[in-house]
Amino acid sequence: MATSVVLFTRDLRLHDHPPLRAALDRSDAVVPLFVRDRAVGAAGFAAPNRLALLADCLRDLDSGLRDRGGRLVVRSGDLVEEVCAVAGEAEADEVHLAADVSAHAHRREELLRSALSARGCRLHVHDAVTTVLAPGSVTPASSDHFAVFTPYFRRWSERAVREPLAAPRRVRVPDGVGSEPLPARGDLTGLSPGLPTGGERDARKRLTAWLRGGIAGYADHHDDLAGDATSRLSPDLHLGALSPVELVHRARRAGGPGAEAFVRQLAWRDFHHQVLAARPHASAADYRTRHDRWRTGAAAEADAAAWRDGRTGYPVVDAAMRQLRHEGWMHNRGRLLVASFLTKTLYVDWRVGARHFLELLVDGDVANNQLNWQWVAGTGTDTRPHRVLNPTTQARRFDPGGAYVRRWVPELAGLAGRSVHEPWRLARAARAAYDAYPDPIVDLSEGLDRFRRARGRD
Ligand SMILES: Cc1cc2nc3c(=O)[nH]c(=O)nc-3n(C[C@H](O)[C@H](O)[C@H](O)COP(=O)(O)OP(=O)(O)OC[C@H]3O[C@@H](n4cnc5c(N)ncnc54)[C@H](O)[C@@H]3O)c2cc1C
Repeated sequence: MATSVVLFTRDLRLHDHPPLRAALDRSDAVVPLFVRDRAVGAAGFAAPNRLALLADCLRDLDSGLRDRGGRLVVRSGDLVEEVCAVAGEAEADEVHLAADVSAHAHRREELLRSALSARGCRLHVHDAVTTVLAPGSVTPASSDHFAVFTPYFRRWSERAVREPLAAPRRVRVPDGVGSEPLPARGDLTGLSPGLPTGGERDARKRLTAWLRGGIAGYADHHDDLAGDATSRLSPDLHLGALSPVELVHRARRAGGPGAEAFVRQLAWRDFHHQVLAARPHASAADYRTRHDRWRTGAAAEADAAAWRDGRTGYPVVDAAMRQLRHEGWMHNRGRLLVASFLTKTLYVDWRVGARHFLELLVDGDVANNQLNWQWVAGTGTDTRPHRVLNPTTQARRFDPGGAYVRRWVPELAGLAGRSVHEPWRLARAARAAYDAYPDPIVDLSEGLDRFRRARGRD
């Protein structure tokens, strides 16, 4: 009897799962395996919010497999040792795995390949599982990756996207391969109170609702902070409860400018993945150095702490930072403006901000987080690396009625309309009624001058 192991990582679904399909096609029995990799925890990447979503996803995957006659096997420890042990127990001759892009994923693949081959077991790595197109499959003539989004997107759009696969009807798991108990969200502490649920079933409901409703207005409303008119599918994409390939097909079938704009964002996701695949060190080092000498010391640390706590005195920045802490998620426009505020107005290292995001974001991943931070900081792929977003102008434009700020900064909830964006302009007596809210920690024009000087652009 031929047996395969399918090693799930951040592809926690049954629909459109090429490694599972290949294993089922080639074997009589399959062990669906998830390893709680010790190295991920040791690298400080196991944030409670994401662990909660992971626990939901694993439970849902197990239940989906049980509906099909199978089950999920969960182990924890050293990933390579655990995969080899399970392959040995199941007498498997193949292991199937989705390709991934981080330095950790590359190393994992290499170590697995050699450890398995020493046991006469083959590793099959499947592309286009976590991304729409395989990183490296679309390249310019002169490089191994695209460094600018627009030409990448042109080429990306011309490429055929493989057809999504149906979920399997039956999965036969061999007897005698033991599993640890599944982790549970209830075992975790320090979670954001407004976290979404995880797992493929809920994710598919969210996707269907999005395709029926929100996507049509996406092109016009995606930047409206209070309108909250984006898909919120990023956590499902991060852990692979949804397939990006399936999303592209279903969005294109829905059609219209909203769907086009949505597919373009999925291409941004692929874009950052292909940059990281080619330059894994960009997770920690500047992709393009601007020779920054970021502020350090007590004043910079106090500024960063005020930023993290949502107490900078700029209401829209503080609203977004508080949304992050409460929901483990932040609107994209909020991410852009708080990242610009930290790296440019306060001139604090992008790594400080990226680390805080990764401690809280349910969708936090190395490719999207680190490379978006670099994009905003001007050390990444932005073709206008020195632009600075003015938080007040941004607030007036993307939260014109002030509803987003009033939702997240209750100290200012009594201020009507756009006056909520500039409490420092209130007359002294009126300002006194809002004294629970801080004054701005930085003067915007001073921050701008400091940044321009630092970048040699004064
Ligand atoms: C500083 C900063 C940090 C970020 N960190 C992350 C992160 O850790 N994880 C993450 O998934 N996204 C990150 N983003 C990108 C973006 O903000 C989120 O993907 C988006 O807000 C998620 O909400 P949504 O699912 O409603 O997005 P939608 O607007 O509905 O977009 C659909 C999908 O497209 C992808 N997408 C959208 N915008 C981007 C983008 N700029 N880059 C890459 N993919 C994109 C996401 O997978 C998203 O779910 C970051 C952006 C910035 C500026």
